[in-house]
Amino acid sequence: MTRVFSGVKPTGHLTLGNYLGAMRRWAAVDQHQADALFCIVDLHALTVDHDPARVRRLSRQAATLLLASGLDPEVCTVFVQSHVDEHARLSYVLECVATDGEMRRMIQYKEKAAREGARGGSVRLSLLTYPVLMAADILAYGTDEVPVGDDQAQHVELTRDVAVRFNQRYGHTFVVPRATHPKIAARVMNLQEPTAKMGKSDDVGPGIVYLLDEPDIVRKKVMRAVTDSGRDVAYDREGRPGVTNLLEILAACEGGNPEDLSGVYESYGALKKDTAEAVVEVLRPVQERHKELCADPAYVEGVLRSGAERAREMARPRVDAAYRAMGL
Ligand code: ADP
Repeated sequence: MTRVFSGVKPTGHLTLGNYLGAMRRWAAVDQHQADALFCIVDLHALTVDHDPARVRRLSRQAATLLLASGLDPEVCTVFVQSHVDEHARLSYVLECVATDGEMRRMIQYKEKAAREGARGGSVRLSLLTYPVLMAADILAYGTDEVPVGDDQAQHVELTRDVAVRFNQRYGHTFVVPRATHPKIAARVMNLQEPTAKMGKSDDVGPGIVYLLDEPDIVRKKVMRAVTDSGRDVAYDREGRPGVTNLLEILAACEGGNPEDLSGVYESYGALKKDTAEAVVEVLRPVQERHKELCADPAYVEGVLRSGAERAREMARPRVDAAYRAMGL
């Protein structure tokens, strides 16, 4: 059976981008078609300035939202990265395979390091080595497929390179995984700044729709989305990023093709109205289930505990094998 691994960082409240780009497919497809693991990657949340209590709170919230989005712990494994020591254990030996140059080429590193620098802060070493820990997350489980948004393509590519290099040097140990991306909404853009990704780690802003936003807040944010100077509704990622983003969101929520939808609308107002309602409807069941789950924290706790046990059992033999192969 295909092994699937993917994760979310508890660095902020989960967004519509996380949902349409990744989580929705995990629940609808991956957990049923594969032996799938979904991880709250909390170690990754420590790579930038963080508040310990907030990370703990956001980890629990992310776990609750993953379950609310339809992940079924009877058919897949949901767990928290720091509960399974194998991730950090494997990461160190992979650091002895990856290179400094590879790390410095990562787009996310360059962007985030620049942002930390601009804030006057120092860049944590873990921000540079982050992709190696991500490679460890994936490789520890013999993962075949990594369902992610477009923004993670470069990190999965690096994971492949590290796996191939390790296997060549030390003998076949790791499966070489591949990324899969959704056809529509692989990169949901910020509604106020449609040339930038809608990212949860960014500052709270009116351009980000959070999964727990009330319907009226969603409507307000979508109705105020920045559109383009043209007047017709055209699908064009380069020339019309704002309108194209709305078409992508609408198509992802309702089904259908964003290019076809562009022919249906004569005004930006009508497009925004339908997009807002479509988003509200997509989020409604997730929010309802989230509310129920919040009333039963012991259940979520139990899911994470047994998820970590299962994950540990799956990861340990391969991580042990990697240590042996490297001479430890
Ligand atoms: P973030 O950038 O929000 O901190 P994470 O690194 O936690 O995201 O990513 C969780 C998943 O959500 C990943 O698969 C990532 O590719 C996906 N994702 C994040 N932002 C977006 C977006 N704006 N559009 C599509 N997918 C996204």
